[in-house]
Formats: sequence, C-alpha cells, structure tokens
Amino acid sequence: MSEKLALVTGGSRGIGKACALKLAQAGYDVVINYAGNTEAANQTIEEIKAFGVEAEAFKFDVSNQESVDENIAKIVEKYGRIDILVNNAGITRDDLFIRMDADKWNAVINTNLNSAFYVSKPVIKVMMKQRSGAIVNMSSVVGVSGNIGQANYSAAKAGLIGFTKSLAKELGSRNIRVNAIAPGFIATDMTKDLANTEEMMKFIPLKRMGTPEDIAAAVKFLTVDSTYVTGQVLEVDGGLII
Ligand code: NAP
Repeated sequence: MSEKLALVTGGSRGIGKACALKLAQAGYDVVINYAGNTEAANQTIEEIKAFGVEAEAFKFDVSNQESVDENIAKIVEKYGRIDILVNNAGITRDDLFIRMDADKWNAVINTNLNSAFYVSKPVIKVMMKQRSGAIVNMSSVVGVSGNIGQANYSAAKAGLIGFTKSLAKELGSRNIRVNAIAPGFIATDMTKDLANTEEMMKFIPLKRMGTPEDIAAAVKFLTVDSTYVTGQVLEVDGGLII
C-alpha cells in the first residue's frame, strides 16, 4: 500500500511528464499512463524513481472505458489509494470546421473529454472512501477563447471546464477538490510543428512559450500546496488571454 499516490494520464511525455516529476519531488509515488510510446514511458519512470519514490507506467487508451476500468482497478488493487489525479492525456486533430470530418471530431472529444469521465469515475470512488483527493483537468486557453481550426479541441477543453466546476460543487463536501489548468502555448511535441510562433509572441505579454515545468508548478500548487481552492480555472499562458 502506498502512503500517497498520484496518477497522471499521458504522463510519459511533455506536460504530463513534468507533472509526474514534480509530484515525485513532492514525495508522491507516481503512476503514469501512456498510449503507445513505451520507450518514453520507461525513460520517465527512471527519472521519477530518482526521487526515491515508487513509479510505474500503465499503457492504456484513456478514450476506451473498458480499458480504463480494467487498468484503474489494477492500480487500486496494487497501491490501495489515489490522492491526486491529473487528467492530462490529450491529442489535437486540427482542421477548419468546414473540412473537419466526424473522425477528427470524435477522436478529439473521446481522448480529451470523454477520457476525463472514464478515468475520474473509478478514481473518485476511491477518493470518496478516503474522504480526500485532488483532481486537475488539463484544459487549454482555447477552451476559454476558441481558436480557428480547433472547433473539436476547443469544445473538448471547454467541456472540461464545465466538468471541473460541476465536480467541484458535487465533491467538496467529501474533501475532494477539482480544478482545471488552461495552458497557453507550451513547448512540447504537440506544438513543435506550429507555424508562426514569432507572430504568436506579439500576443504573449511574457514574450516566450511556456515550459512543461511552468504547468507542473501550477499542478503542484492546486494539488499539494493549496487546501482551499476548488472549481477554478488557472490560466498559465504568459498573459495570452488577459
Ligand atoms: P504531448 O507532448 O503530445 O503528450 C501527450 C501525452 O498524452 C503522451 O504521454 C501520450 O502518450 C498521451 N496520450 C495521448 N493520447 C492518449 C490516449 N488515447 N491514451 C493515453 N494516453 C494518451 O502533449 P502535451 O503538449 O504535453 O499536452 C498535454 C495536455 O496538455 C493535453 O491535454 C493538451 O491538450 C494540453 N495542452 C497542451 C498545450 C501545449 O501548448 N502543449 C496547451 C494547452 C493544453 P504516448 O507518449 O504513448 O503517445
């Protein structure tokens, strides 16, 4: 049985990896989930273990409810508790709406929004029994502001904000806090092929892209450091959508 455990979906690379490392540094055992890149997951596990905590990677598709249920059950059986959940796994399938087919729409809604329903459900049952827990849903500034070519992604990320606020109201009495982070442009594999980054800097008061560590610091604040913050959407975007 773990003393305190954090579960980070999509924790093998990018923002999820930085969150996993930050929570390990704070003394949490960490379970990461990933979709297919086992090499990256193994590398991340080694880096987490360097903080002297337990770490394990579970490969499953967060958009498949059966797979989620099976794997969360294994995690609970092995570790006995889940103190922090970061619903972070996500993808983009950008296109102008007029060209966007149902496959692109469904892939993004399933992976970015339905996944939070699938993963949170069994995890919240555990947190309710513990009478404690903290959840962070990884939204996006485009869930607040919208974006050309991202109707699917913006809808999913806006959905996560409504989901966050509703769960915060439902679960507060059980001492479970639920917040969202809305990152701006963060340097990861997801954004490495973006064109016009120089043009974007005109709109970012801090004049740089964010780092995964910028987001991880906010995750640690919302999960580990704060005790009276719930239902909030923290924009970590260098001032992009002030
Ligand atoms: P990333 O570098 O592309 O990493 C994505 C992670 O999610 C990987 O660990 C990947 O696993 C995992 N993943 C993808 N689909 C999955 C699935 N179906 N099941 C399980 N795991 C899956 O992405 P990122 O930039 O770190 O983004 C992380 C989160 O932040 C996403 O929700 C994204 O929408 C959000 N976000 C990012 C930015 C940004 O500028 N980067 C801005 C706003 C919001 P594999 O390694 O196995 O592929």
